[in-house]
Amino acid sequence: MNACKTVKAVSDTVKGLWSLVVGLKVTGKNYVSPQLTIHYPRKTVDNIETYHGHIELVGKPKEPAVPRCICCMLCVTSCPSGCITVVKQKEPKEPARASADAPKEMLGEVGEKKAPPMAKPAKTPSRWKLNYNLCSLCGTCVEVCPVKSIRFSNDVYIAGYSQDDFVYDLLARLREQAGEGEGDR
Ligand code: SF4
Ligand code: SF4
Repeated sequence: MNACKTVKAVSDTVKGLWSLVVGLKVTGKNYVSPQLTIHYPRKTVDNIETYHGHIELVGKPKEPAVPRCICCMLCVTSCPSGCITVVKQKEPKEPARASADAPKEMLGEVGEKKAPPMAKPAKTPSRWKLNYNLCSLCGTCVEVCPVKSIRFSNDVYIAGYSQDDFVYDLLARLREQAGEGEGDR
């Protein structure tokens, strides 16, 4: 009986030691392998161009603080997660008139100036919000936008304390990126 107990104890000890050897082997292998992670925030990576973070707005070439968005609402209706909110800017009560410097077209038969044609009010968003808590990064909004006003950011270093911290005002972010004012994202 005692002999059986001794054999079992020796067997358990050998198994335990072998498990230790296997563990040390794995640790040793990883210890000498090239490091794949960085000591954030002391260091940051410099190859994040291809990272697909949350979406952001693209500005007009000549007015980088103004989004290309024409408020067609395609992204809003296509988003499977319902995380985009776009509010169109209210049109002015008296729409702006086109320039009156067009004498040929605007002169009547008796030489009087016709009223210049109404200029179409620009469709610009007054609010453009993303609830990143709900976003699945599916890319549908990027694909459907007819004026290429949405792209993926490479914003990798994001953190927050509550869900509200991940609701982004992308108009403010665009203004901040263009060097105008401060955005919350
Ligand atoms: S990436 Fe997909 S889930 Fe995220 S906002 Fe765009 S459409 Fe919605
Ligand atoms: S799909 Fe493009 S143009 Fe249309 S509302 Fe969205 S961002 Fe604006």
